[in-house]
Amino acid sequence: MSSLFPLLFDLGSTKPTTRDIAKTVKAGGTAALTEADRRADQALYQEVTCRSALNRVKGMPFEWTLNPYRGCTHSCHYCFARRYHAQFEMDAGDEFASVILVKQNIVDVLARELDRPSWTRELVAFGTATDPYQPIEGHYRLSRAVIQALTRGRTPFGLITKGPMVVRDIDVLLEHARAARSTVYMSVPTVDEDVWQQLEPGTAHPLQRLRAVRALVDAGINAGVLMSPIVPGFSSARQKLERTIKAIADHGARFVGCNVMYLQDGTRDHFMRFIEREFPSMRPRFEKLYAKKSPPDTYRKEVQAMVRVLQDRYGLRKRRNAEAEHAPAANTEETEQVGFAW
Ligand code: SF4
Repeated sequence: MSSLFPLLFDLGSTKPTTRDIAKTVKAGGTAALTEADRRADQALYQEVTCRSALNRVKGMPFEWTLNPYRGCTHSCHYCFARRYHAQFEMDAGDEFASVILVKQNIVDVLARELDRPSWTRELVAFGTATDPYQPIEGHYRLSRAVIQALTRGRTPFGLITKGPMVVRDIDVLLEHARAARSTVYMSVPTVDEDVWQQLEPGTAHPLQRLRAVRALVDAGINAGVLMSPIVPGFSSARQKLERTIKAIADHGARFVGCNVMYLQDGTRDHFMRFIEREFPSMRPRFEKLYAKKSPPDTYRKEVQAMVRVLQDRYGLRKRRNAEAEHAPAANTEETEQVGFAW
């Protein structure tokens, strides 16, 4: 295979950049990544050299993002980051979940960036295009080392994950909390078992994630839950929302936020193909509700009101208010956009 699709970079001791990877895949597909490591989970792991660790973004509630990996074996069908895999000439479907880029030098690069006199210690959103605690983190431990670098750089961060493995790093999270603000957002869109298995096939059980929240909070870390995203027709029924909010409250989360699924570009294509294949009768309703990338405002507002009632019922709004000053990365507008039943 390598003779058909020669690598466009010299491996030597230096790993290819993401641009090298894109060129190679464009020429020969992912089969041309002959140096990538296929692990027991059947995913392909390609180490890469990154030129920057912190990425500046616009139009978000934060200005900097940080992602030690690209792609995610958690494989959530609604994942908005799926569409970003096109940057590497890969698709938003199977390749997003099975070809993972590992930025093996990210900690060194980050340390240099944080040392610059021009760095003003702005908030960093950690894990916006991948899950920093997907299973491969157990091997590389990059997210752990990133937290340590952020501690040395006294830089605040908000970390989002569906990986209970984050409790492994309670020690470094506590050290960080002494140096700067940080928040862990555990993503638990629903505790409904069927919906979890249908939509998030590679993730840990929702209650395992909530137990991780309990462990983080008990250790003194500012941690809460994002019901992110609520997927109309799957996790949006009032009964399911109520069970989820009750479970979140029962596990001691310091706050809860929500957003409704939005669909764009490759993510939209993947999700609609998934619906067509697995739930064809739902397709017309999704097409109607998602004529644009998000459902209509009226839909979101109706649900927003319902979630507020449920948050009040289980004491989460009071808790959130009490903790608000400790939840720097929460974006009220974003996290309160919620969706429910059809
Ligand atoms: S865990 Fe997060 S990054 Fe990974 S597939 Fe799911 S939504 Fe995407």
